[in-house]
Amino acid sequence: MREGLLDIFHETYNELRPSSSPPELKIEFFPFANINNTIRLRQGKLLVRLSDLLEGAPETVLRAIAHILLAKMYRRPIDRGQAARYRRYVASQEIVRKAHLVRQIRGRKLLRSPRGHFYDLDAVFEDLNSRFFHGLMARPRMSWSQAKTRRILGHYDPAHNAIIISRLFDHPGVPRYALEYVVYHEMLHLKYPVKLRGSRRCVHPAEFQAEEKLFPHAAQADAFLKRL
Ligand SMILES: [Zn+2]
Repeated sequence: MREGLLDIFHETYNELRPSSSPPELKIEFFPFANINNTIRLRQGKLLVRLSDLLEGAPETVLRAIAHILLAKMYRRPIDRGQAARYRRYVASQEIVRKAHLVRQIRGRKLLRSPRGHFYDLDAVFEDLNSRFFHGLMARPRMSWSQAKTRRILGHYDPAHNAIIISRLFDHPGVPRYALEYVVYHEMLHLKYPVKLRGSRRCVHPAEFQAEEKLFPHAAQADAFLKRL
């Protein structure tokens, strides 16, 4: 549970209903297939379920969500600024991407062969494993994506313990370091697992980001990925 979230809901409740004290609140993040948030009153308790896609949202956005849900619950007018703040965040590219990804992954699971026409993902994994992780990482299922997706270059799916890489990279025009960089990123997700049940969010803590920068061709790879 994200720290301060309960406080946000309590404060928002007090703004909307200053003359009554808030009921017992239970907030949980839930892996909805789409961005979705719900609020219910059950036996005097308020149950709030927020999409886990919003777990990393900035505080202002969480305040907006709290306002919208509580205003709906108690039939108060929804502040336009709050509604706009929430909509802007949901529409932001990152969220759109994550929602797309989650729909794709949760909707169906199609794992394909690690062996492409040009690159073998198992071999790429094992090579990176010995170069950067002392060979200690257990190899998950490696799979090329079905489509040549540009929006999602790679993804680690903890539920299926699988790394899926966009088929776009299985091409002679793609330098090996660029493919390696994407696989390396997903391997760091193995190393720094997200500790939230049922979640498939993409979270990059500081140690993750620092270690990502250690990749020897990081700058070139970044430049290549930008041109994709
Ligand atoms: Zn990531």
